[in-house]
Formats: sequence, C-alpha cells, structure tokens
Amino acid sequence: MKVLKFGGTSVGTIESLTNVKNIVDSLSEPAIVVVSALGGLTDRLIATARMAAEGGADIDEEMDQISSRHIEIISALVKDEKKEEVTLKVKVLLKDLGDIFKGLSLIKSLPERTLDLVLSYGERMSSIIVAGILNDAEHHDSLEFMRTERWFNKDIADRSLTDELIRKEFLLPLKRHCVLGGFISRDRDTYEITNLGRGGSDYTAALIAASLNGEELEIWTDVDGFLTTDPRIVNDARLIPEMTFVESMELCSYGAKVIYPPTIYPVFHKNIPIRILNTFNPSAPGTFISDHSEGNPSVRGVSVLGKCGLINIEGTLTSNVAEINTRTYNALSRNGIGVLLVEQPEEGSSLSVVVPEADLSKSVKHLQSEFSQELREGEVKSVRGEGEISIIAVVGESIKRITGLGPRLSNTLWRNGIEVKTISDGASETTIAIAVASSDSSKALALTHEAAIR
Ligand code: ADP
Ligand code: ASP
Ligand code: MG
Repeated sequence: MKVLKFGGTSVGTIESLTNVKNIVDSLSEPAIVVVSALGGLTDRLIATARMAAEGGADIDEEMDQISSRHIEIISALVKDEKKEEVTLKVKVLLKDLGDIFKGLSLIKSLPERTLDLVLSYGERMSSIIVAGILNDAEHHDSLEFMRTERWFNKDIADRSLTDELIRKEFLLPLKRHCVLGGFISRDRDTYEITNLGRGGSDYTAALIAASLNGEELEIWTDVDGFLTTDPRIVNDARLIPEMTFVESMELCSYGAKVIYPPTIYPVFHKNIPIRILNTFNPSAPGTFISDHSEGNPSVRGVSVLGKCGLINIEGTLTSNVAEINTRTYNALSRNGIGVLLVEQPEEGSSLSVVVPEADLSKSVKHLQSEFSQELREGEVKSVRGEGEISIIAVVGESIKRITGLGPRLSNTLWRNGIEVKTISDGASETTIAIAVASSDSSKALALTHEAAIR
C-alpha cells in the first residue's frame, strides 16, 4: 500500500486536479491520498484573519472569492452522484469560516488557537473535494486521528497516540482510496484544532506511511524531483535521481523546501522509501530516497536556510574547547533552541554558533548566563548576536572524503567578495555549513553550487 501526498501546488486548479485524478485513478491498488489546501489558500487565510482582526478586511468579498474558487472546482470535477453532498459539506465549512472572520473583526484580536482553527478549513475543504473527484474513494477526517502536544510553546506531533489512532482508523487491506487532509490535527489534551507547522502535509503523509507500514511514500509536487539546489534561486539546478534519507534530511533541514524536514525521520526509521514526483509530468522518474544510493557522487546537493542568527563567543578560549562546545550546545538545546551550526573552534580562538533568528536574543541571554563565570574572569570577553544570517549547506554522504572542500568553498566565496561569517567543516559526517549575510545568500548559493556540484 502506497501513501501519496499532493501539495498545494498540485491541488490549486482544475487542470492540476485533473492530473491528480488521473494519477490516483490509474493506481493498481487502493492507496492513502493526503492533500494540502488549494494552492495559496493557507497564506490567504492567514492574511484575511490578520486583516479581519485589525478591522481592515472586506470579509464578504474575501469569502466570495474563497467560496467561488472551491465551488468552481466542485462543479467542474466532482462526480455527479457526489456533487450535492460535497457542495453541501463545503458550504457548511465556508459558512463557519466566514462567521469566524466576522468574530475576529468584532473581538479585534487574533488568538493563536483561532488562527489554527481558521487554517484548518483549507485542508478540511480540499480533502472532501478530492475524495469526491476520485473514482472510488472515501474521505477520512484527520482531526479524528492526528494529535499534537505542546513542546516549548510549539505544537509537535504526539507520535505514539497518533500512531495508535491511525492504526484504528485505517483497516488494511484498504478497500478503496482513502483521502484525508494533511497538516491539521488536534491537541491531545485540550482537543483544540492545531497543525503540524507550515508545509506539514508531508509530515502527515509520513506518519501515516510509518504507522501502516506503507510500501512507499510518494510526494507529488510541481518539480521533477529533488534538485541539486533551489530552482527558484539558481537556474541550473539539476535532478538528483537517487539520494539517501540522511542526505535528504540534511538538505531539507537546511531549507530545501521540497520536503518538510520532520517528514523524513518516521519513514527513515521504518525504511520506507520516498519518491518525489511531478504532478505536471507524471511519467518522469523523479527522485528515489532510500537507505542507500548508487553512484555516490561527492556532493549531492546544496541548500540555503534564511532567517538565522549568529552568536559569537569572543575571547581566548584556553580551557578545553570541546567542553565549551558541549556547554554551548547543551545550554541552547535544554531551552528548546535548535542549534543550526557550531564552528569547530581552535584553541585560543572565539566560537560561533548559528540558531534560528527568532531565538537569537534569548540564545544570547542563555549563553551569557552559561558563561557568566568566564565572562567575569575575562576568559570570555563577550557573547554577541548578529541577525540576518543565512546558512549555505553542502551535503553528501561521502563529503568527508573530499579533502579540502571546506577551505576551497570558503576561498571561492571570499574571492567573490562574500564574507564567510563562520563555517562548520568536519563537525558533521555529511554536511558543510557556511554562514553568510542574508544579503549575500543568493549569490553565495549559486557560487557554492557551481563549485561543489560536478
Ligand atoms: P507543495 O505545495 O507541493 O508542498 P512546495 O512549494 O512546498 O510544494 O515545495 C516544492 C517547491 O520547492 C518547488 O516548487 C521548488 O521551487 C522548491 N524547492 C526548493 N529547493 C528545492 C530542491 N532542492 N529541489 C526541488 N525543489 C526545491
Ligand atoms: N497548507 C499548509 C501550508 O500551506 C500545509 C501544506 O501545504 O503542507 O503550509
Ligand atoms: Mg510543501
């Protein structure tokens, strides 16, 4: 049994949904089909909710446009015998959504949970519609089995409860295709509607594939597969026919938007391969991601992650550098801050780390307190943060075997007038991470791609 996920890019229009229908209807056995909201809708729901709360949205006009987009798709594509039922269900959801926007314009505020509620309508509507378009499919409500828990003010999947509920919801072997919305969930304790984070439909599909021991996870999107770099920034991004789970995990954690980063771990753990395929070019072979890969080129891909912050711990770190490194890492991670890059410091030099920009100021505070004694005694002179940083990540399973790659890439950037703020070369088996100013990031990505990919 396969799990197929179609992103917003694949469920945006009548034309793309016709491709989705053809792809699923021609499968030889029933599959699980996970869909995102209609392309662009989630962004639009966020914008409308914010405007409504500020009193600035023409809610009737917005709702007219959102409604007609959904109703047009239903009229064009939903099978005749299901048209009335699907129209009714979607109209009920549209009415609720319009009422919530009106409520927001009255209370003039946008609580986090209300925004989550608003966002859920995208996938709730699209999944009902897609189930009505396919030849032989039933709809499943993800709010019944996807569960999250709070972790450092974020909602993260409650893996064990979700796993148990998924196995109760889907009885194997499937009799027909099962369609459900990605991204949406409920809090396991309060039962409020939550979500798995922007781009989270990929993760829904992975959790289902893992729980049901699917044979393959197919991510259908709008490009021919995983490319050597971001095609929106670099023109000559090339297709990667095969790669390993670890390589894809590294590239996605460092900004390759094609898969939402948490997606890979659950299927990796169960050794379920992922295929990245193009809804607009379904016969193209795509990218196959598994636990091994043929060819093993030196560098598999290069990605860029923006919105980062750099912290410099300045001083003559004469004490054990490995210990300073560990303390830095621990001080941040025990406060729920994900460290994106740690430089391998040499004795007597300063140490740099990169964190998400949103966590920069609290990271600086945590490190100032961690090193308060060293600051007092002068071994550490200062702990300073700098925003608007991007990381360029160069990834490949055998990257460690390429001698001098880090210095060579650094030199290429310096020669082209780009300041390398810090580089993590050798800390990871698979990745060289280079921090640059965000204003340099596109140029740095293109130069690094050209220098690293052969
Ligand atoms: P979906 O709506 O299908 O989830 P996304 O927009 O989330 O689609 O992800 C697909 C997009 O990711 C592509 O259109 C492409 O522009 C972008 N992208 C960024 N980096 C890469 C990469 N290395 N390989 C392929 N696509 C990438
Ligand atoms: N619709 C959600 C988003 O736009 C989830 C997804 O598309 O994966 O982020
Ligand atoms: Mg996506």
